[in-house]
Amino acid sequence: MIKNKYLGSIYGLAIGDALGFPNEFINRYTNLQRTNGKGITDFISAFDGDFPPGTYTDDTQMSLAIAKALINSDLKNYSIDGIMKNITKEFINWINDPKNNRAPGKTCIYGCRNLEEGINWKQSGDYNSKGCGSAMRSAPIGLIFYDDLDKLVEVATETSRCTHAHPTGISAGIGTAYLTSLALQGIDYNTWIDNIKKQLFFNEEFKNKIKQINDVFDYEDSFKALEEIGQGWIGEEAVAMALYCFLKNPFDYEKTVLTAANCEGDTDSVACIAGAISGTYNGTEKIPEKWVNNVEDSEYLKEIAEKLFNKKEH
Ligand SMILES: [Mg+2]
Repeated sequence: MIKNKYLGSIYGLAIGDALGFPNEFINRYTNLQRTNGKGITDFISAFDGDFPPGTYTDDTQMSLAIAKALINSDLKNYSIDGIMKNITKEFINWINDPKNNRAPGKTCIYGCRNLEEGINWKQSGDYNSKGCGSAMRSAPIGLIFYDDLDKLVEVATETSRCTHAHPTGISAGIGTAYLTSLALQGIDYNTWIDNIKKQLFFNEEFKNKIKQINDVFDYEDSFKALEEIGQGWIGEEAVAMALYCFLKNPFDYEKTVLTAANCEGDTDSVACIAGAISGTYNGTEKIPEKWVNNVEDSEYLKEIAEKLFNKKEH
């Protein structure tokens, strides 16, 4: 595997998240009005200047938490209990991090507080939630388990379940990890939707949303297409919207994440997942250098991507 794909994945998700952050909770009209009709084209500050341009959010923070947990796990003597012990530790660190002030999702907080209280990860999640919190953070699982589908599915299932225990929340969590693994292996993206349809580990609700990409794919207006798929607050919509953005621009990272960041809805999460897929598929050399240099914690992101790469024997 090429190291640039690991760098592309971690930078890709963090940059997408940072581009989408200022547009979360903002309607289409306001987005266009405040950008002279252009929409988001670059890093801008979020929450009326409270956060400087390039700030990433909980989506990246939790992706990094999963990455660190995997880096610190003994993969040679694989055990899901061992991995989930590390995930529990990192998620508790995240919930108490003072930088966790960027509109984190309620279900993630609920699940992580339960973990902090000592409730086992099998019971800590919300059975009714299929919010996109499990899907926004699972790309690193695809980087580590791309060569072992059973482990990828198991780790993505359990890391999802500890906050989002609804079957579609779990499917969406597996979805981002799985798409990242396909991107990493350079598998022909024209096969991805059919591939998802065949997999028994995705539930019907998730598969039906992914199939909807084909129904809207030929629309001239990407915004209209995304609007029909949804707003991305729930997992299956966020993954389907992100995959649509990538499939419309498979060799263009910049267009992929900007399409996602300018949708209406959970823009940071949709752009984070889209950025993970495109960044992994295309490698870091296809990501504009100004974004790699100016995203928050650029050096640290590089360090984590390199550790993930070195964790595997390629
Ligand atoms: Mg966020």
